[in-house]
Amino acid sequence: MQLPKYSLGMGDRFAHQAKAQLQACVLSGEAGVDITPVWNKSNREHLIIGSEPGGTRAAADAAVQALRWTRPYFLDADHINLSTYERFVPPCDFFTIDVADNIGQKSDDAEIAKFVERHPELVGSIAIPGIVEPFQIDRAFVERTAKQFLAAVQHAAAIYRAIVASKGSEDFVAEISMDETDRPQTPPELLVILAAVADERLPIQTIAPKFTGRFNKGVDYVGDVPQFAKEFRDDIATIAYAVERYGLPANLKLSVHSGSDKFSIYPAIRQALRDTGAGVHVKTAGTTWLEELIGLAEAGGSALELACDVYAEAYAHADDLCAPYATVIDIDRAKLPLPSEVEAWTGEQYVRALRHNDADPDYNPDFRQLLHVGFKVAAKMGTRYTDALMRNEAVIARNVTANLFERHIHPLFLS
Ligand SMILES: [Zn+2]
Repeated sequence: MQLPKYSLGMGDRFAHQAKAQLQACVLSGEAGVDITPVWNKSNREHLIIGSEPGGTRAAADAAVQALRWTRPYFLDADHINLSTYERFVPPCDFFTIDVADNIGQKSDDAEIAKFVERHPELVGSIAIPGIVEPFQIDRAFVERTAKQFLAAVQHAAAIYRAIVASKGSEDFVAEISMDETDRPQTPPELLVILAAVADERLPIQTIAPKFTGRFNKGVDYVGDVPQFAKEFRDDIATIAYAVERYGLPANLKLSVHSGSDKFSIYPAIRQALRDTGAGVHVKTAGTTWLEELIGLAEAGGSALELACDVYAEAYAHADDLCAPYATVIDIDRAKLPLPSEVEAWTGEQYVRALRHNDADPDYNPDFRQLLHVGFKVAAKMGTRYTDALMRNEAVIARNVTANLFERHIHPLFLS
């Protein structure tokens, strides 16, 4: 199973927007660029909502049928590990194997020594096409890096083999993710990691390193854009080199776990893809749920009331809601409006506060981030929430499609 060149990870927390999301890929195809949709949902999301991976499969298949989509599409078991992969095996055909927690874990000294022995080619001056300065790598660096990452790669291989055994085939896409960690991996480290991946015969098609800067959920990138651009290009060059050198899958590409809405780095990504011909997988996280709230607020009346109630509850339980996402949100509590103020807002005021438009003085990123992690509140509302989604399907779908197509696909792949 081959992941095509450009793919977009999309989250659909309540499994009601797959069709509207797929419509954005239809529009992209009509504009001349094929984007492969990948519906991703993590175990954490399933647990908070109380949903099953099979529900995501049903929603995706229904959307594909409704729009007569004939090109590939995938279902991503997002950030799984050895204790969570199992229930994702039947419905999923894309597995994001998360080994960030295994970075730095001690490996056997003999294993490290074997790795260093096996890879004399990693020592010396390594000139990678596309990177200006050759890397000067010594044996000590290879040893240090293997100590840092070998256990994580071997653990990823163990998870991969467990999935193969459970699925009874290798017909799926595998990704290794190392993004949820403190320190970005450098290109020479990435090269060592990919050598280890090849040793394990792990046929990954995407790899998600950690980049410099902050990738908070639902808001823009915080960091040094030129530095990101350089890292991104160096990583592309390193992957191309490793594919050649170690016989990794030819379509191996970077996966950017963007957390959505990293508008300020989209031009750098687009330019790098254009210059190098590389592919990319961009995960956009669960901001589709915010488009549901935007649609409900636009609809007004009882739908707007519901959107206000969601905020009031989220405000009241902010500590609980933020805790699982502490490392990927930055909320200034002092800038959150009081629920009583929000109740007095018009639909337009609600939409303008929530919609990510930096040019709008009424846009409130703190309000947006709290609602982003507040989906548990809507999940608890049960059918009151999902009935409202169905009653207001048209206005919500319009926002879901426009958000994905105009704010993400267009700047990343089309402009
Ligand atoms: Zn991630």
